Amino acid sequence: MSDARKVAVEALPDAPNPTRHKKEVDEALGTTAFGFNYYVADPGQRLPWATHRHPDHEELFYVLEGALEVELADGVLPVTAGEAVLVPPETTNLARAVGETPARVVAVGAPKDSDGAVIEEECPACGAESDRSYAVDGDDYVLSCAACGATVERLTPGPE
Ligand SMILES: [Zn+2]
Repeated sequence: MSDARKVAVEALPDAPNPTRHKKEVDEALGTTAFGFNYYVADPGQRLPWATHRHPDHEELFYVLEGALEVELADGVLPVTAGEAVLVPPETTNLARAVGETPARVVAVGAPKDSDGAVIEEECPACGAESDRSYAVDGDDYVLSCAACGATVERLTPGPE
């Protein structure tokens, strides 16, 4: 038989994330060349969880429902249902769900093995524009400031 395989996306467990749902379809199916994640984000929620850039990785967001605003270094790019946006490598960005209804978004990125992100956000503890490191604590991710080590945020799977 072939190695083709499938998964029920909505039934996957949620990855720790600040959105209502994040389904790591790539991990579930074992993709090796590209990343594929499905998000459901309530208005105001961020995808993923900080302003960041990928040095050698391009990302495409396809908005199925709702709307996003992609905050870039030189402005905000609105992306509404039916539209897709490409974020090239080295492009500092943060996507945020906006409007009245949850955004449903497919995010595809490649190459998968260089999906490491450089976070550039002000640390609430020391004020540095710092990267974040994370540790796994049970089902949660605990994010720390790379400059001072302060715990910045705890991301939980869910909330549903
Ligand atoms: Zn700090």
